[in-house]
Amino acid sequence: MQDLTEQFVELLRRTSTDRPADVRRALSEAHDREAPGSAARGALESILQNVELARQKSSPICQDTGTPIFFVRYPAGWSSRALGKQIRTAVSRATEKAYLRPNAVDSLSGKNSGTNLGDEAFPSLHFEEIEGDTLTVDLLLKGGGCENVGAQYSLPDNRLGADRDLQGVRRAVLDAVHQAQGLGCAPGVLGVSIGGDRGTSYAASKQQLLRRLDDTNPNPDLARMEAQLTQEANRLGVGPMGFGGATTVLGVKMTSQHRLPACYFVTVSYMCWADRRRRLTVRGDNPTIE
Ligand code: SF4
Repeated sequence: MQDLTEQFVELLRRTSTDRPADVRRALSEAHDREAPGSAARGALESILQNVELARQKSSPICQDTGTPIFFVRYPAGWSSRALGKQIRTAVSRATEKAYLRPNAVDSLSGKNSGTNLGDEAFPSLHFEEIEGDTLTVDLLLKGGGCENVGAQYSLPDNRLGADRDLQGVRRAVLDAVHQAQGLGCAPGVLGVSIGGDRGTSYAASKQQLLRRLDDTNPNPDLARMEAQLTQEANRLGVGPMGFGGATTVLGVKMTSQHRLPACYFVTVSYMCWADRRRRLTVRGDNPTIE
């Protein structure tokens, strides 16, 4: 089995310092939509300058480099235990190189490990064995501010008038955006999961944040709802960093899972404008990062 430790360090560097092209494009389009001289346009100007400087200098896009969340899909023959070890070594090396800020704090003592390595939750590792011969490693660096405004709803919700249907889901998602009020560093991207149990629903909503902003959901009902919710969230007028304006979200990405008849969860994971996601793909001896 290959040693991919250095490729994982590079994946962490790129994810922390360099926005994917679709995110840069969405931020630039959001900037152009805002009124000249407005606080919203000023905020997006600063964001775009920050994006460019971070890329040029290979330095983190934000002082909070987030929780590293890895989703690893591996073909037969790879060892998840060995891959996990390589990833943890890479996280520690990336922290030494200052691609990541040391963020892993013991919840009881408050002590920072200094390496970004904690117990099993830090970094967060998800493994799945798949058919085929391609190893795919998706990474999210999930900031604390945007994690704090994630929300989970149990429908029906009388307060929102939300029943157990897509219109109820719509009300829950818009409520989450309204409650956030720009906290979590808008404009953000919403990952939404319908169904599952509370735990699987949060994991599935985060996986939605791995999708490109310009892709289309293969489920036509969810594709329509994603477009509608993006428009409606932006009509709330919260705007970049909560300054008011035309762009509160850059996109909404949705999935659904089977659920118990007794439960109907809607889970919203919020990713900030720093939208840090990258993918490492390994076919044979040929690793690529996109
Ligand atoms: S929410 Fe995102 S942009 Fe805001 S401070 Fe955290 S990591 Fe940085």
